[in-house]
Amino acid sequence: MHELSLIAGLFPILEEKAGEQDAKSVTFVRLRVGRLSGVVPELLETAFDAYKKGTFAEKASLEVILVPLKVRCRACGIIMELEEPVFACTGCDGNDLEILEGRDIFLDRLEIEV
Ligand SMILES: [Zn+2]
Repeated sequence: MHELSLIAGLFPILEEKAGEQDAKSVTFVRLRVGRLSGVVPELLETAFDAYKKGTFAEKASLEVILVPLKVRCRACGIIMELEEPVFACTGCDGNDLEILEGRDIFLDRLEIEV
């Protein structure tokens, strides 16, 4: 499961960031997830809840923000946000689109208890 490996990869980052501030525990985590990342937010939350048990982030809640896909048409230059990955320009109907946003996953916010 893609989401589980993402969460497994997230925990060392959380641990490092919490450690930098001598935190006892992590209480809140916010992730920004691109629509094109292929991640299902509900599965991410389920994976997080399963993974956090017995860790420094046991009490942490997770918020997932779905980021729209933002693209620029190379033909006519307009920038648009797409709810679905349908690759046609709304201006000129071309399909030479450059992806600006929506592919990645970011750790947006981390709250800790010291
Ligand atoms: Zn266009």
